[in-house]
Amino acid sequence: PNYIANETRYDQMPFRRCGKSGIQLPLISLGLWHNFGHNADFKNARTILRQAFDFGITHFDLANNYGPPYGSAEENFGRIMEKDFRPYRDELIISTKAGWDMWPGPYGNLGSRKYLIASLDQSLKRMGLDYVDIFYHHRPDPETPLEETMGALDHIVRQGKALYVGISQYSAEDTAKAHQILKDLGTPLFIHQPRYSMFDRWVENGLLDVLGEKGVGSIAFSPLEQGVLTDKYLKGIPEDSRIAKDGRYLKESQISDEVLSKVSALNKIALNRGQSLAQMAIAWLLKDERITTVLVGVSKPEQLADNVNAVKNLNFTETELAEIQKILV
Ligand code: NDP
Repeated sequence: PNYIANETRYDQMPFRRCGKSGIQLPLISLGLWHNFGHNADFKNARTILRQAFDFGITHFDLANNYGPPYGSAEENFGRIMEKDFRPYRDELIISTKAGWDMWPGPYGNLGSRKYLIASLDQSLKRMGLDYVDIFYHHRPDPETPLEETMGALDHIVRQGKALYVGISQYSAEDTAKAHQILKDLGTPLFIHQPRYSMFDRWVENGLLDVLGEKGVGSIAFSPLEQGVLTDKYLKGIPEDSRIAKDGRYLKESQISDEVLSKVSALNKIALNRGQSLAQMAIAWLLKDERITTVLVGVSKPEQLADNVNAVKNLNFTETELAEIQKILV
């Protein structure tokens, strides 16, 4: 075989139960939004995925339109799956999503049954899989009845094309409704994927309470604010950073003096804890048990090595929490 997984891969990574389900997820999961498309270096992508699994990261998160171009992260993942991970398929939780723009016309976007079912079929072909472990509706669609979208998720599970279903960026209120509709259909809402970081705390305003009450798991995306919550921008914009290389979703204007002074203050606390800022930003999310796993992205293997070590210190003193709170408000 091309790749033999590290025998000690389950020794270091703690796992947490995803809501009231039978599945445990690693505290750190890996997302393929950036750095896995046809614009990226395939060898590097493959190294990162192998290394992730060797670290005990059993969960890879994709979406139909990750790339660029759209679909290409799934295609590359499919190639790597074939080369390296085929013998390990049953050790992996692979997710994909539909909800953002994917193909032209009214059926390649948002939340119709037509879009979700067709899109998942395409995703499975690109990845060379018979099923995904988790299929998500990627964002709320106010124009499509929630019954239709949730009905499509239920149908997909009954077709055997996904084992579990999730939603992303749904409000607390819509999450409670989605949960009930799915429950009535007989398919549990398995997971919610919200944006959550030290700099974006909207989930603390009701969503986490709903998830905790209903026993739904959660996976926090962009936990490092796309790299802002690391030490990388403290001395300018590095050439190999997301801002310099890509700039679609993270722009130089987002690194204001105010942001930098917060990052610098947080960095000092992290160093006093014996952690990198990236590690502290991850640990800070995991202090709430309702966060099942933190979904990082990385452009380099070294970053993943840094991030996984967050799990070595998840405890915060009251003083540290208060100091952090003062910086964040
Ligand atoms: P992060 O906040 O983890 O940012 C990742 C970026 O930060 C990396 O690509 C790298 O950027 C930098 N970085 C990561 N680790 C380190 C480190 N230790 N030291 C220095 N820099 C570091 O997450 P993403 O924004 O990438 O999102 C993660 C995943 O979440 C996505 O891949 C996707 O799966 C999911 N997601 C879901 C969305 C949804 O709507 N449901 C939306 C967005 C993301 P650099 O290039 O600068 O090196």
